[in-house]
Amino acid sequence: MNLQQKLKSNVRLDFEDGLKLYDMDLFELGSYADKVRQERFGKEAYFNVNRHINPTNICSDICKFCAFSANRKNPNPYTMTHEDILAKVKKSYENGAKEIHIVSAHNPHTGFEWYLEIFSKIKKAHPDLHVKALTAAEIDFLSRKYDYSYETVIDKMCEYGVDSMPGGGAEIFDEKTRAYMCKGKVSSEGWLKIHKLWHQKGKMSNATMLFGHIETKAHRIDHMLRLRELQDQTGGFNAFIPLVYQRFNNFLKVKKYLGSEEILKTYAISRLMLDNIPHIKAYWATSTINLALIAQEFGADDLDGTIEQEAIQSAAGARSANGMGLKDFLDLIRSSNFIPVERDSLYNKIKIYH
Ligand code: SF4
Repeated sequence: MNLQQKLKSNVRLDFEDGLKLYDMDLFELGSYADKVRQERFGKEAYFNVNRHINPTNICSDICKFCAFSANRKNPNPYTMTHEDILAKVKKSYENGAKEIHIVSAHNPHTGFEWYLEIFSKIKKAHPDLHVKALTAAEIDFLSRKYDYSYETVIDKMCEYGVDSMPGGGAEIFDEKTRAYMCKGKVSSEGWLKIHKLWHQKGKMSNATMLFGHIETKAHRIDHMLRLRELQDQTGGFNAFIPLVYQRFNNFLKVKKYLGSEEILKTYAISRLMLDNIPHIKAYWATSTINLALIAQEFGADDLDGTIEQEAIQSAAGARSANGMGLKDFLDLIRSSNFIPVERDSLYNKIKIYH
């Protein structure tokens, strides 16, 4: 069976198929991805009203692609107090946020409890707020720093009120590329193991892939297939989020821009390769809102959310520092001929904006 026949009959694609998809005409590829998207979600485009908080940028790791952590290119170390964080959460909650998304750098000075107590304090103040927190990279850091097993850190997360895990820290799984980009950070195997353990607790998470830097197309397909394999075992991933690499203020020194054609192809290929992960998110903070909207016609069905404030991608050049107002968000989705659907963090529909 050739690739077109497989695509027409929804047959699972293999590694070679994934590579061939990059050679396909953009619009032909997009139409296959859009067909799958429309069969599942019609013209609905998902988003949530959320707030990103990045409590500290002091980091014991030195990822070459990172512009967020305090270093000689970004010499502004900060660590928020719990009171600062709670004040931000309160304001966002009153403005309608349903999810608080908390990701930090790997701060070696705060202590284990500093990370965990944020969650229990938020939950105590706002029991109905969904807390999405601690990437697998952070869990690995806490495990190494404080000599706890992954299982113990995960049990503590559950105990302190974390509802779901974000998908960050996956970067690119290829070991050689990973060793060059972020030596010392959680290994690919460790990342997958942590998500598996989390899923085995009956909890959901997301998965990311950082692309457009020094990785190859083969690395991207390999990354997707490793996620697909785990998803076959656990079913615990809600969404796959291809993150477009931001090129400023970091040490990776990537000169070329990834063109929008290849970005759109990567969204479409994600939809087609990851037949078992329900949602493909075009995270507008890394792709720009315009491309994230176009991506909705190339397999993506989600745009992330209003964000409110964001420090990680914006440090590297993304225009996401102040998030986006709900009205603007809705207007943009509608004018792109999609139906905005506000969802919660687990993709239950909250409101359909017809
Ligand atoms: S990507 Fe995360 S772990 Fe790596 S240096 Fe930046 S903040 Fe630290």
